[in-house]
Amino acid sequence: MIISFDNFNASFESKILLLLRLKLIVIMSDTIEKVKCLIIGSGPAGYTAAIYAARANMKPVLYQGTQPGGQLTTTNEVENFPGYPDGITGPEMMLELQKQAERFETDVRDGWVTKVDFSGDVHKVWVNETKEIHCDTVIISTGASAKYLGLDSEQKYLKLGGGVSACAVCDGFFYRNQEVVIVGAGDSACEEAHYLSKLCKKVTMLVRRDEFRASKIMANRVKNTPNIEILFNTETDEVLGDGQVVTGVRAFNNKTNEKHVIPATGFFVAIGHKPNTDIFKGFLNLDETGYIINVPGTSKTNIEGVFVSGDAADHVYRQAVTAAGTGCMAALDAERYLAGKDATFEVSTSTYN
Ligand code: NDP
Repeated sequence: MIISFDNFNASFESKILLLLRLKLIVIMSDTIEKVKCLIIGSGPAGYTAAIYAARANMKPVLYQGTQPGGQLTTTNEVENFPGYPDGITGPEMMLELQKQAERFETDVRDGWVTKVDFSGDVHKVWVNETKEIHCDTVIISTGASAKYLGLDSEQKYLKLGGGVSACAVCDGFFYRNQEVVIVGAGDSACEEAHYLSKLCKKVTMLVRRDEFRASKIMANRVKNTPNIEILFNTETDEVLGDGQVVTGVRAFNNKTNEKHVIPATGFFVAIGHKPNTDIFKGFLNLDETGYIINVPGTSKTNIEGVFVSGDAADHVYRQAVTAAGTGCMAALDAERYLAGKDATFEVSTSTYN
């Protein structure tokens, strides 16, 4: 476009200002990227959504977030994901999923989605505060983070993979016939303590108040299990170890301040999860703890074209395989949505094979 200023009655400064503004508009429209399918998150849900979306010709772009690979990268051995008869480490499995997504040309990128705006027809997403992307569809796979106590000793053995875990179903098997400690008093803690009691010689449960938060039925199940010892009004002072692995837990009674050591090779923390959904507040329907509310049986959210998969919407199952399953659902739902909106976009038959 050629703009002539010759007949334009304005001062030299105004003309310069106008030119600068025009240049800024051109730069901005250059930097706003348009994407058919944006996937936020790189756990099993995100990568599975990417595999399906890429095979359906949706040219997905996937942002990995601050913990590429998600929660599984903090797990040692994964033995319950179908297809790995000998087990696989969490980080290895996530690399394999990434490779599989990239094989079909998913554009996997480093970056942290810091802001969204789902209020208009175009779904806007900002990466690292600055880069703006306009998306036809968005698949949210941001997961949830397990809460930990925050003790130095807990974090040390968590990082070493030496006996601290926030997932009994994932890691309980490694403590067969051993003694373990579990912290928490909600439904998750009760469910996990019960799960562990079937594998371990003894489970000691540390409950910080003098009662459970869990439902009566779950609490009673724990109380009636002979190899679960429940210590009420008891908190963790320190996770003990030999520098490599956990050897015990020093607990204290918060009424008497009395301390004692419980021998244990595993320390399980079950004090809740926090879904990584803060940036969607105000746009998506969230439940009281922040989980995204999906239309039952689908991955649809309250905003058309925005889908959710994995733990960001699941406080019950929270498994890699269920996350992967809902990732597949989200890609299929997104594909159908695009096909309904754009007559030139064909639903791939291969997706349904
Ligand atoms: P909850 O928030 O229900 O429970 C967390 C528990 O951890 C509470 O007992 C809390 O103690 C304790 N806790 C928190 N911080 C600390 C700390 N620093 N030290 C010691 N203890 C601590 O989380 P859940 O994950 O158990 O459950 C989340 C939701 O999922 C609930 O709605 C639950 O009903 C649901 N759920 C349902 C299941 C099912 O139906 N099968 C299975 C699992 C979960 P305090 O009580 O003192 O606050």
